[in-house]
Amino acid sequence: TEEQKTEKKRASKMSSASSTPTLHAELLIDGQLVIGEGPAEPIINPASGETLASIAEASIDQVETAIRAANRAFTSWSRTTPAQRSTALLAIADAIEKRADSLARLEALNCGKPLHLARQDDVPATADVFRFFAGAVRCQQGQLAGEYIPGHTSLVRRDPVGVVASIAPWNYPLMMAAWKIAPALAAGNTLIFKPSEHTPLSILALAPALAEILPPGVINILCGGGDSVGSHLVGHPKVRMVSLTGDIVTGQKILQSAARTLKRTHLELGGKAPVIVCNDADLGAVVQGIRTHGYYNAGQDCTAACRIYAQAGIHDRLVAELGDAVASLRFARKRDQDNEIPPLISARQRDRVASFVERALGQPHIERVTGAAVHSGAGYYYQPTLLAGCKQQDEIVQREVFGPVVTVTRFDELTQAVDWANDSEYGLASSVWTQNLDKAMQVAARLQYGCTWINTHFMLASEMPHGGLKRSGYGKDLSSDSLQDYSVVRHIMARHGETL
Ligand code: NAD
Repeated sequence: TEEQKTEKKRASKMSSASSTPTLHAELLIDGQLVIGEGPAEPIINPASGETLASIAEASIDQVETAIRAANRAFTSWSRTTPAQRSTALLAIADAIEKRADSLARLEALNCGKPLHLARQDDVPATADVFRFFAGAVRCQQGQLAGEYIPGHTSLVRRDPVGVVASIAPWNYPLMMAAWKIAPALAAGNTLIFKPSEHTPLSILALAPALAEILPPGVINILCGGGDSVGSHLVGHPKVRMVSLTGDIVTGQKILQSAARTLKRTHLELGGKAPVIVCNDADLGAVVQGIRTHGYYNAGQDCTAACRIYAQAGIHDRLVAELGDAVASLRFARKRDQDNEIPPLISARQRDRVASFVERALGQPHIERVTGAAVHSGAGYYYQPTLLAGCKQQDEIVQREVFGPVVTVTRFDELTQAVDWANDSEYGLASSVWTQNLDKAMQVAARLQYGCTWINTHFMLASEMPHGGLKRSGYGKDLSSDSLQDYSVVRHIMARHGETL
């Protein structure tokens, strides 16, 4: 019967969810898979609090070896043709797809992500980023050639920067790795990639394939903390560029250190996305959109739809319907991997979220619509939370919580909502919901954000630039803009005279 079939399908999903994929502990340095010689750090499954593995970090000597190897490899890799680099990137995409199941299971284990989402979102998007840059680099051109001084022809070349240190966060470990690695390699750079100390498992599982596909030293993967391996990379004179996705404070530290050697920096920092909901919005679509994109990955997303401004005519219905929708979200645990809400990455992060909500609820004007509690069982889960009655200057409206917490603020006039949306130190992502396209386009034009969605939120395409304004950083991930960030332009002028 249909019922038996569904049960069988569910049972087979559960058994694949519980079987542990192979864990790799080797770093990749100069084409060799080697065990780190630095201190070993436990890698925790945030869904249970159990230790999954102990990974030895790179020692400072190993960091130095990797930087030397990347510099050596730069000489030949930077001279490869776009077609040759494209072939390598396509091979990496194939390798990701070949290992799709184990990579998805590692991502689920290491981040507590719902397995079905890791399979359907993280892994395919990762492969797609490599495929996109494989194509984009072949369309990448230098610029104009022309005679600007009589008897002299100028042309502009686009060349790689050099050795890049790429430093990633823990929220989408594989995808963030792809965003950093693919454009850097495509543009002809060599690199040292450092995953977050919390989530190295998926990229370490891919390291053997990368070692087969790429010449030694072109990519090096080093595990380690920000203060040890990370800061050594950033301070090193032979590293020409640092690309970080992470916290604002980390970005500031990196800028200070990079100033000493005048490195190029590329910073993707935090966000606090405003969601402007007009009276004429399609309420069902808004509720569904925020239920999904305010709480996806437990809100551990720099573009999460977390700061709602609702116009007075729709406000009460929105709060009531969204409250019910959010209360229906379920934790994705070992046995319920089909559910939506993962744990926070660590007990520290969960407690940080809890204290934000506690302080917010200490304010008499803020109303708890749903959630606002730590889950008492195993793992670092926090209930999906909706808070209404919030005011513009409230801490919970101004600061990035990076958890499953969405606030609602009521507004009357649209100009007020735009002003409040822009009254933020962040400038990464935003959305506006209305059935009037003229209105939507006017709001989009005035929002000071790297991205504005209209009647949707959170959707990214490999072809389109992603990156912030203001304290959300600068530089673009994805798109051919990213290739430009990872390359330098150089002017070549040839004097040929005018004798003919
Ligand atoms: P984090 O800044 O603590 O860590 C990010 C990385 O930086 C880690 O690999 C860490 O080891 C490293 N690091 C820390 N200190 C360092 C130092 N002094 N020198 C060199 N490296 C250092 O951030 P996180 O907690 O991993 O991630 C959450 C943050 O990332 C949030 O603020 C979030 O908004 C931001 N984020 C932004 C984007 C984006 O696209 N803008 C995407 C995802 C996450």
